[in-house]
Amino acid sequence: MSSVPRDYYDVLGVQRGASEGEVKKAFRRLARELHPDVNAHDPQAEEKFKEAAEAYEVLSDADRRRQYDAYGHEGVRSGGYAPNFEGFGSISDLFSAFFGGGGGSGGARQGQDVAVGIEVELADAARGASVDVEYDVVARCGTCHGNRAEPGTPIRTCDRCGGTGQLQAVQRTAFGQMVRTAVCDVCDGEGKIPEQPCRTCRGRGQVAEKVTLAVDVPAGIADGQRIRVTGRGHAGDRGGPSGDLYVLVRVADDERFIRDGNDLVTLVDVALPLAALGTRIEVPTLDGPVPVEVPAGTQPGETLTLAGRGMPPLRRGRTGDLRVIVNVAVPKRLTKEQRELLEKLGDSMTEDNLRTGESMLGKLRRVIGGPARP
Ligand SMILES: [Zn+2]
Ligand SMILES: [Zn+2]
Repeated sequence: MSSVPRDYYDVLGVQRGASEGEVKKAFRRLARELHPDVNAHDPQAEEKFKEAAEAYEVLSDADRRRQYDAYGHEGVRSGGYAPNFEGFGSISDLFSAFFGGGGGSGGARQGQDVAVGIEVELADAARGASVDVEYDVVARCGTCHGNRAEPGTPIRTCDRCGGTGQLQAVQRTAFGQMVRTAVCDVCDGEGKIPEQPCRTCRGRGQVAEKVTLAVDVPAGIADGQRIRVTGRGHAGDRGGPSGDLYVLVRVADDERFIRDGNDLVTLVDVALPLAALGTRIEVPTLDGPVPVEVPAGTQPGETLTLAGRGMPPLRRGRTGDLRVIVNVAVPKRLTKEQRELLEKLGDSMTEDNLRTGESMLGKLRRVIGGPARP
């Protein structure tokens, strides 16, 4: 980190006018990315996390934030705040001090949640699918089973904390000194130290792993919905439960359909003479093309409904329909012969040919998509 501190808003990646909630959210997101267990290989992560924690300590406190907005970093320091995370021996302790979950208790900590994104085709969203999701996860070390010692080697009591796993850390704040109970940095809250740290996990008890998990995407899922897989997040600490896996589902655009709730909407061109005479067309569905009768005299924008050819309900309810909008296509280019035929047709047409029994409002609603009433 450079000696000139970065702008706190830049650090958290929020606007100057960001709300308290936005600041908190931004910090949580950053913290997840910089989680020490995930970034064990990245020495920069610890510095970045401290930087983010400092920015958060200031911007999440109304007084400090006012000082900072008015006078910058100097304003915060002269207000009595001195970022000091030294009392927290390891970044894991600092992390748990911010997010709780056993920071100070020396007890079990639940693992962090993991979020991943996947994309599925519309047809898969309709039928449901099993998707292999790949992600990085902190898992319990299989060699030492989390007790951090090389198998078969002795474990002694921690001198620094006397086996309690806890330390008292004094932190200076704008409100005077605050005592925070922190996890012992020597034994990482275990109270015990292996004589010979496990070689697989370097004594952490945890390892970073690439995991592939088959996730069931339920039929009827919509774009932007999340699937929660309990207990498939990061492993917990000291016997704590694992976090959860959240899978954000994107449903890829399908060039044939627009989804409207559980209905699907598609559009087919029918040449003007065929719309007038009536015809049979092929309509795309999720199960392949199906033949559909277009009645004689079908008007532009009229909708044919294929019941039950839409999306299934995610939980309860009925399967949607496929709504087929008929686009009466007017030819742009004509051969000489076609032009003569159309001219003849045009000359022969009367008001009576166009009478549909539909009111002006009815036509308007059909075109702009309102409820079709006569
Ligand atoms: Zn191990
Ligand atoms: Zn200790």
